[in-house]
This record gives sequence, C-alpha cells and structure tokens, in this order.
Amino acid sequence: MTSLTAQPPLPDLLSKPSTAPYQTAGSGSHGRKMQRLTLAGFVCSFIVMAAISVLAFHQARIFKRAANGLAQSQEILRNLEQLRTEIASAETNHRGYLITGEAAYLAPYEQMLAKIRPDLEHLTQLVAGDPQQFAQAIELKLNIGARIQTFKQVIAAYQTRGFKAAQDLVAQDIGRKQTAQAYRSLDDMSALTQERLQANQQQQQAAEARLRYSIAALAVVLLTVLSLIYVLVSRSVAAARHAEHLLNTLNATLETRVIERTNLLEERSRELEERSAQLESFSYSVSHDLRAPLRAVNGFAQILARRHRDSMDDDAKHFVDNIVQASTHMGRLIDDLLNYSRLGRKAIVLKPVALAQVLDNIRNTLQPRVTETGATLQIPADLPMVTGDWTLLTQTFTNLIDNALTYRKSDVPLQVSLQWRNSDDGHVVISVADNGIGIASEHFEKIFSVFQRLHNQDEYPGTGIGLSVVQKATGMQDGKVWLESTVGSGSTFYVQLPAAPAISS
Ligand code: ADP
Repeated sequence: MTSLTAQPPLPDLLSKPSTAPYQTAGSGSHGRKMQRLTLAGFVCSFIVMAAISVLAFHQARIFKRAANGLAQSQEILRNLEQLRTEIASAETNHRGYLITGEAAYLAPYEQMLAKIRPDLEHLTQLVAGDPQQFAQAIELKLNIGARIQTFKQVIAAYQTRGFKAAQDLVAQDIGRKQTAQAYRSLDDMSALTQERLQANQQQQQAAEARLRYSIAALAVVLLTVLSLIYVLVSRSVAAARHAEHLLNTLNATLETRVIERTNLLEERSRELEERSAQLESFSYSVSHDLRAPLRAVNGFAQILARRHRDSMDDDAKHFVDNIVQASTHMGRLIDDLLNYSRLGRKAIVLKPVALAQVLDNIRNTLQPRVTETGATLQIPADLPMVTGDWTLLTQTFTNLIDNALTYRKSDVPLQVSLQWRNSDDGHVVISVADNGIGIASEHFEKIFSVFQRLHNQDEYPGTGIGLSVVQKATGMQDGKVWLESTVGSGSTFYVQLPAAPAISS
C-alpha cells in the first residue's frame, strides 16, 4: 500500500550557481555594485565623448577659418601680381607711344589704366579685415595713383607741346622713381601676405591634426562603449536563457510532483472508499445477524414478564422489565443502524421529485405525533421540484420534522414551519424551523455523527442516528445540510438540494 509520506524537497533550482557566466545579472550586493559601476562607466563615456565632440567642433571651425584665410591670401597675391603686370604693361605702352608717337600704343596703355583702378578697389576690400594689410593697400593706392598722374602729365605735354616738352618731363626722373616706389609697395604687401598665408597654412595643419586625433579618440571611446554594450547584452541574454531553462525545469518537476500527488490521492481515496464500503458491509451484516438473537431475547423476556410475573419477587420483576426495555431499545438501535447502512448500499437514481408530494405523505405519517404533541405544522403549498431520490427525501424531512416534534419545550405550544427559497447557483434551500429547546453552537457538527446525542433516554428517547441519515442522504443527492440554533429559542435546519431543471414547453 502506498502512503502519503514526506516527499524530498524540490530542487533549489532558483538559487544562482556560483560559477555562472552571467553574474552581472545576479541579485544581491554584488549585482547592485556591478549595476552602479556599469552606469558610472556609461556616464563617464558619454561625458568624454561629449568633450571630444566639442573639441572636434572647435578644431573644425579653426580649420575652416584658416582655409578661408589661406584662400584670401592666395587671391590677394594673385591680385598683386595682376597689378604688377598692369603697371608694367602701362609703363611699356606709355614709353612706346612717347618714342613712336603711334596711337596703337595709346589704346593698350589706357586699357591698363582702366583695369588698375577696379583691381585696386578689389584689393582694398580683400584686406579690409587686416589693419596692417589695409594700411599697405592704401599706401599702394597712393603710389600707383601718383604714378598714373605722372603718366598723364607726360602724355598731355607730348600731345600739346610736343616731344621735347615730354622728354624734359621724363628727364626729371619722377616717373621712374614713382614706378619703383609702387613696385616696393607691391613687394611689401606680397611679403606680408606670404607671411599671413604661411601662418594660415600652419594653423590649418595644426587644426587638421587635432581634428584627426579627436576623431580617432571618439572612435576609440565609441568602440569601447559598443563593446561594453555587447558584453552586457550577451550576459543579459545568457541570464534570461538560463532563467527560462530553470523555470522550465522547475515547471516540469512541479508537474511531475503534482501528477504523483494526484495519483497518490486518488489511490488513497479509492482505498478509503473500499474500506468504508467494507465497514458498512460489516456493520450491516453484524446488525442484521444481531437482530434475530435480540428478538429472541426480547420475546422470551416478555413471555417471562407476562406468564411468570406472579411467581417472581420484586427484584426478579425489576430485572425482567429492564431486560425487556433494554432489548427493545437495542432493537431500535439496530434497526436504525441497518437503515443507515442500507443507505450506502442503495442504488439511487436522481430525478425530478415534487417536494410537495413528499411532504404531503410525511404529514400523513406523522399526523398522530403532531396531534399527540399539540403542535402546529406549517408546510407551504408551493414547494418546488428538486432533483433527488424519493425515499432519501422522505427520510430526510421525516427525521427533521420528527426531531422538531421530539425536542420541544413542555411549557410552550410547539410550532414547526417549513419554508423554501431559490439560491443563486441552481439550488433550492428548504428550512425546517421549530421553537423547541435549541442546540448550543459547539454541538452543531457533533450531532451529525452516528450515535451522537445530547440527551439521555429518560429526557428524550432516540438513537442518535436520525441526523446522520439526513446528512448522508443529502450528500448522496449532491446537497448539504446545516443549522442555526439558539439554546432555549429553537432551531432551524437548512437542506440545500439541486433544483429540478425547468420543463421546456
Ligand atoms: P436522535 O434524535 O435519535 O437522538 P438525531 O441524530 O436525530 O438522533 O439527533 C441527534 C441529537 O441532536 C439529538 O439527540 C438532539 O440532542 C439533537 N437535536 C436534533 N434535532 C434537534 C432539534 N430540532 N432541537 C433540539 N435538538 C435537536
């Protein structure tokens, strides 16, 4: 026989293995410390990345500024070269015209003069942001302007007063000096612009190098953060997989355990049913077998008491009367016990039964007792249909009403009344109330057990089986019984039974 012995405890599957590869996801102070460290690592990385980004942005701006300066310097240099060429060309054509008097030299000379002015203006605008260069441009402008003035004076003298007048003017050497002065200004400005160009070049190279370092550093930090994220994600995934595996194992173990327990309980319940059936069968046969000898004892005792009474002394009479009384009571006990045992052996078919008819029969059967006790028995006319067994229902309500008639108060007219109501879950509840002696609440359970009585035979006769029959019979009909009672005020027994299904028309 299997028994419900203590099972070994479930494996401790949820505790964290000490060598698990995902300890960062674990709980406890270690886990919390790792979480804090990870967070701090991320925060630091982001701060570093932000700082590097700001630095890189700054270097990019410097680089751009230097590149702009470089382009500007190159344009200034181009402009200066252009001016130098234009002055030289004006000089050549001016001289050609003076020597040959050919008008063919005059046109390119004037073209050059016409170009020099806007070029000078453009140059001044280009250097407007640099005070030193701007001052040089103004000086250049003055020098070139003076040279152009001299050009024009010589031409005017040539054209109005002839070659000799122009020659005299040239001989003063003013024009040559002015040209040399203009070239010096151009050289000075070129030299300063070259300086600026080199400075911008250096600045650009330095900014470019710093920008490269910043991008490289950013890439390193980014790669580190990405690696950290990868490691954390892999560990989390591993931890989740492990937890899932543990859960599945635990579920499987639990399921197996539940199945084992269920099988065990079913087996125990079958055993109990078998034992109970054996016990009932035993008590049935014992009661049955006891009945015949008991009847014999009772019969012979009665014959003795009747036929030989005169020849007995008082003691003998008393003994014989006690034998008759005791054997009669025992006979009743055996009958009730047999009745109770028969309940378990009875094959019942639950079907719709009209309670009104059941109670009508009971009223007829108990009418002599009702009359004898002077009780008022109220039974409602509209009692419902229930799903049950006619005999079990008859036994149940006979016993309850019979008890109500028995456990009455001698000084108060007895009132027994039945009532009923529908309960929510497809059942009906029928109550049997009396105004009798009542029952103390501590006996509410006990009185439903076989042979349990609260009074002796002299006070109230009985066998202590009536309520056991009521409980067993209602249970067999998928119902239940309970009570409310106050000592001295009366008792109400409630019987709940399945309502009969409504007949569809
Ligand atoms: P019996 O009536 O044969 O003694 P029961 O099983 O019917 O056996 O009742 C058990 C005990 O419950 C009774 O002895 C009695 O003390 C108590 N009892 C039952 N019904 C009532 C009632 N209506 N009022 C007071 N006591 C009751």
